Amino acid sequence: GQDPRISRIASAIRVIPDFPKPGILFQDITTLLLDTKAFRDTIDLFVERYKDKNISVVAGVEARGFIFGPPIALAIGAKFVPMRKPNKLPGEVISEEYSLEYGTDKMEMHVGAVKAGERALVIDDLIATGGTLCAAIKLLERVGVEVVECACVIELPELKGRDRLGDRPLFVLVNAA
Ligand code: AMP
Repeated sequence: GQDPRISRIASAIRVIPDFPKPGILFQDITTLLLDTKAFRDTIDLFVERYKDKNISVVAGVEARGFIFGPPIALAIGAKFVPMRKPNKLPGEVISEEYSLEYGTDKMEMHVGAVKAGERALVIDDLIATGGTLCAAIKLLERVGVEVVECACVIELPELKGRDRLGDRPLFVLVNAA
């Protein structure tokens, strides 16, 4: 059966309809952060999965990958690398454009943060269409890093974002509608 910690995590996530615009069911993880047991369990579940996988880099996607990534990185003895929105990182960057529902966005990573041959876990709070995780994967693979797995707290399975990740595995704790 399913790990009993999962149902508590799922109930700690608040769903807010019509945010940031009509028709969107926003999955709000800030209420998960208020539940000290559920937050700890979330981190523990990822740490249990990744601690013996020889991962040297946890790459967290702005903004909510910055909440879940660092505690996992510390616990598994990996470094944390922020994957940021454009023009936020002060050093030399490589960037990757990706498409949104309307228009495009860009993701950036510092040059020199990772080395060819390293093994990475990519983390975000949620996968919807998969475009965001795809951009993060491309940035890492362009510099020769192996993406071992992507991990999210929540998946919206109806959007089939998982299919866009090709053969990189995706691990999620909670499925949402
Ligand atoms: P996507 O690139 O379509 O997979 O969208 C994933 C990104 O958008 C993640 O960084 C999420 O935090 C955010 N996101 C998309 N849809 C939602 C939603 N329904 N609730 C909360 N965050 C969302």
